[in-house]
Amino acid sequence: MTQITCPFCHSDNLVTLSPQQAGLGQLEVLLEAMSPAAMAALGVKLSRQLDIPPIVGGLIGVVVGGGLMLVNQQILSKYQSLNHRYLCNGCQNSFVSVAA
Ligand SMILES: [Zn+2]
Repeated sequence: MTQITCPFCHSDNLVTLSPQQAGLGQLEVLLEAMSPAAMAALGVKLSRQLDIPPIVGGLIGVVVGGGLMLVNQQILSKYQSLNHRYLCNGCQNSFVSVAA
């Protein structure tokens, strides 16, 4: 584990501030709505309207949903690391960790 130090006074006496859970919760709900299962159901529904076999629509949905899930995980991890804030006990400055 990388030791994180204060960018202002280089002290390692740091307190982790809690991430902004409210915003993250909304994001997680949104990502849940785009899961492969949800996309497959949407694909089957759309395939009926577009007059193509439901299995084809379902497969497309799974592939699209799987791709979205990979993108979503990257967004989520980026969002979480962006919200990782520290408070320095040495100089009372707060900062966002640059250590991934
Ligand atoms: Zn400091």
